[in-house]
Amino acid sequence: DLRLARIAEAIRVIPNFPKPGIMFQDITTLLLDPKAFKDTIDMFVERYKDMNISVVAGIEARGFIFGPPIALAIGAKFVPMRKPKKLPGEVISEEYSLEYGTDRIEMHVGAVREGERAIIIDDLVATGGTLCAAIRLLERVGVNVVECACVIELPELKGRERLGDRPLFVLVKAF
Ligand code: IMP
Repeated sequence: DLRLARIAEAIRVIPNFPKPGIMFQDITTLLLDPKAFKDTIDMFVERYKDMNISVVAGIEARGFIFGPPIALAIGAKFVPMRKPKKLPGEVISEEYSLEYGTDRIEMHVGAVREGERAIIIDDLVATGGTLCAAIRLLERVGVNVVECACVIELPELKGRERLGDRPLFVLVKAF
């Protein structure tokens, strides 16, 4: 697909952010290119529009940029999966491990119903730890996670393996 090259080119790489040795994939430059941004959304919409998806679960913070336009276009609800202590209502949460320590994502109780079909969206998959926690959270309440979708994959970090038999759809691979 010719759109993919333009999307890949619009993503900026910032070396040594947020710490030395990290090559940070920065999607804010993709947002500055309306054609590439629209193509990104369109490619996800084309994939999911006829898959009977009723939930688009977006991971804070950049899943909140890509998720809502996809949800609107496919007629699904958008469910934010947030960092701890941000959601005002009753939450369920799931912990995951980081390089040092742990983190947690939370979702409002009642946001989804048992048996719904969901996709999970984020900007990037690295080790896959964040997506795995999001999958566990949704599955705990009986939601069927059909696929995880990210703009960028860092294949060297083997997130795809960590997801096991969960389908992962990405637009761009970065090395
Ligand atoms: P994982 O849990 O190791 O797969 O890390 C994925 C999470 O870290 C996602 O929520 C990403 O937004 C974030 N992340 C890690 N590396 C980058 C990067 O280079 N650019 C943007 N986000 C990143």
